[in-house]
Amino acid sequence: MTDEMTVQGIGIGDLVRRFGTPFYLYDGAELSRRIGDLRRLMHPRLEVFYSLKANPNVSICALLRHGGARAEVSSMAELLTALRAGVAPADILFLGPGKSRAEIAACLDHRVYALVCESFGELETIDALAAERGRTADVALRVNPGFSAKNSGLTMGGKPRQFGIDESQLFAEPGMAKRYPNVRLMGVQIYLGTRILSEDVVVENTARILDLAERLAEELRFPLELADIGGGLGVAYFAGERDLDLAVLAERLTPVVAAFAERHPEARLVMEAGRYLTATAGTYVTSVRYVKSSMGERFAVTDGGTNHHMAAVGVGSFVRRNFPFQLLSRMGEPPSGEWHIAGPLCTPNDTLGKNVELPDLRVGDVLGVLRSGAYGPSASPVNFLSHGHPAEVLVHDGEPYLIRRRDAAEDLLGPQYLHDFGPAGGRALPR
Ligand SMILES: *Cc1c(COP(=O)(O)O)cnc(C)c1O
Repeated sequence: MTDEMTVQGIGIGDLVRRFGTPFYLYDGAELSRRIGDLRRLMHPRLEVFYSLKANPNVSICALLRHGGARAEVSSMAELLTALRAGVAPADILFLGPGKSRAEIAACLDHRVYALVCESFGELETIDALAAERGRTADVALRVNPGFSAKNSGLTMGGKPRQFGIDESQLFAEPGMAKRYPNVRLMGVQIYLGTRILSEDVVVENTARILDLAERLAEELRFPLELADIGGGLGVAYFAGERDLDLAVLAERLTPVVAAFAERHPEARLVMEAGRYLTATAGTYVTSVRYVKSSMGERFAVTDGGTNHHMAAVGVGSFVRRNFPFQLLSRMGEPPSGEWHIAGPLCTPNDTLGKNVELPDLRVGDVLGVLRSGAYGPSASPVNFLSHGHPAEVLVHDGEPYLIRRRDAAEDLLGPQYLHDFGPAGGRALPR
């Protein structure tokens, strides 16, 4: 059996002929399944806000919205993406430690559901911009709690951070809201980290977050209309990791959420999810350009690398761990040994995989890095060596759609201004 990979009945060979490589390939059915499962299994009062940071493509956002996702955004472009994807302003949260005045103003003008505020200085800015508009701004406080998450790839809470306001600073000044007359505090957000793969850790975090939110709202005397428990649901990438069992998570989380929901019948309960919604739906597709050996080790040089998929180098871990690889053009063929998978960049760091068990590779073979739908191109140095952004293709209802074209050289050159500093001075050169 040496079948090629198919997505909704479409062969990878067809897609490669049509779109060329490299590209990101997304399975729309998987995206719909992920948001559908979350909504079906979690307590009905728990709303899922899609963190666009994980994958800011407007069509991905639109598909998730059709599945019932709201949006959590952190920049002007992400805000406009969510709006263009059809997310209602009342279902958008804006968050981030360094919001610009323009971003805050846009939130007020578009009337997003709430700004999640991360510092006293930001409260001042929001207050001033709301005053200019003769409005009151709805604001949730992002809190840096005294406790931290366990077992997370990236830990927040319990240490000095640029995110949120320390729990202790808020409790020390229960009357602080009076300083900001044009701000209406109405919620609490806490995010404890990403890549959480333990159901119990999510449940424990949620319980502690909801408890802290209640105590804070009471102490600072604001109505708890929004309790945002962050999220950080992980997916397994590496050997030895296990995916979250959503049914188990739901069973253990529901009593915690239900108790809170009962105490706060009017409150919106929010879970943010980025990676969980998009990671498994995406494959990074490259072609093998050259096959070579060096000092007894085998290398495949592909037409795309860490410039498109920085996460594959395994940032944040000391031991090199490979993302799951698959030879997409001959799926059934057994591995014949170890390969290093290198990209086209002129740096030894451009290695997508080290000692990956794969069949004998040939020029033209199509390789896939699986589970790559989150933190792909937007979290990679796509302009390094000026290769630009890769194409993105979404298969939906059995049809492939180009949802982002690959950058052309002019996309990189176009925004630059050429000044000629040669002996003739200041002479504009023909383009
Ligand atoms: C990055 C981020 C998310 C998304 O995290 P995932 O692990 O991808 O789900 C959610 N909320 C905040 C505040 C974030 O910074």
